[in-house]
Amino acid sequence: MIDKKLVAWGSSGNIIREIAEYGAEQAKKVGAENIYNFTIGSPSIDPPEIVHETMKRMVETVPAWKLHTYAPAPGYPDVRKKVADYLTETFGIPYRMQDVIITCGTSTCLAVLTRVLLSEGGKMMTFAPYFMDYKYYAESVGSSLIECPTEPGTFQLDLAAAEQAITPDTKMLVLNSPNNPSGVVFKREGLEGLAALLERKQVEYGHPIYIVADGPYRELVYDGQEAVYIPSIYRNTIDCYSFSKGMSLPGERVGFMAMTENVDNYSDILAACMGIIRAFGYICVSSMWQLVAAECIGATSDISKYKENRDLLYGSLTEMGYTCVHPDGAFYLFMKTPEPDAEAFCRRAMKDNLLIVPGDSFGTPGYARVAYCVSNETIKRSLPTWRKLAEEYGLTAK
Ligand code: PLP
Repeated sequence: MIDKKLVAWGSSGNIIREIAEYGAEQAKKVGAENIYNFTIGSPSIDPPEIVHETMKRMVETVPAWKLHTYAPAPGYPDVRKKVADYLTETFGIPYRMQDVIITCGTSTCLAVLTRVLLSEGGKMMTFAPYFMDYKYYAESVGSSLIECPTEPGTFQLDLAAAEQAITPDTKMLVLNSPNNPSGVVFKREGLEGLAALLERKQVEYGHPIYIVADGPYRELVYDGQEAVYIPSIYRNTIDCYSFSKGMSLPGERVGFMAMTENVDNYSDILAACMGIIRAFGYICVSSMWQLVAAECIGATSDISKYKENRDLLYGSLTEMGYTCVHPDGAFYLFMKTPEPDAEAFCRRAMKDNLLIVPGDSFGTPGYARVAYCVSNETIKRSLPTWRKLAEEYGLTAK
């Protein structure tokens, strides 16, 4: 009576949560300070001060009818206008209030856009490694996810592979940079090459191929790296953003999607998104939090702390002999596991309370993701365990 696929999604769970739950149980036995939990991509740094100041001010000054009521389905007009103005000022792309829909984070953008863009069939494509939920979004509409490999070792875009992967069925490409799980920031050259390739394929196949730019880590880039704003290089892009990461507000569930009127089928996409938002009950993002987030837009948490973590972890692990992709953004480090079976390595590490996630979950076997959005102290305390494992696996220290 109940679709077995849905039951399987719900009961097989998510390996990240499974390992994290093990960690929570272990913490009760050995103390939380002895668990090195690198599993969850939840910010460890406080939101910028302005967020709490604004929240307090709103509670005191905004009338209850606005603060606590159902907001209009696409978001408050003044919130949408603030977002549009911010994007225009920051990226030089002309957005208007009506081009923006306020959502419950990027998750909602992705789920809704999958239903809209694949509503008449077609496939979703993405580059591996990728955020595991893309697969569920695609499969939930009876479609599938085409996984395109990236360049081995660097995880930068591989245009020859992309050329092979794009077919007449490809209707949407989900592009995530800075990337979860690799921490890689796609270089401008590769992205411009991809944009040119998609332009060519659109003409060849006679239909649009949309880029859904999944950009919750946009501000999290280090050492002056550039996170290219995808709508500035490819017209048929829908920009998806979240206040979860850069502003450290994952629990408040606020984000937005934005597209300019130059996107093919603009009016239909916007209307269909509102239809799906209604049909699936993603309506009315928290009134208070959309007001606060828009008021604070542009402010970020103290990202230098993630950079400190990145430097300590990357420096220490590579010195011990681990092979890691240099993470230029987000708060993830992707490491080659010292044995090809990443899950076996993660389970071995788990025995010493070092919790990391196998890359298989992200479409990339042989790697593991280390989420370093933890305290610097946790990283320092974890280093002897990393060293013990490196010795056990015979890695050569540098
Ligand atoms: N996309 C990527 C690449 C992510 O890593 C995440 C969360 O970790 C999301 C989307 C969803 O985040 P949210 O719904 O909080 O914006």
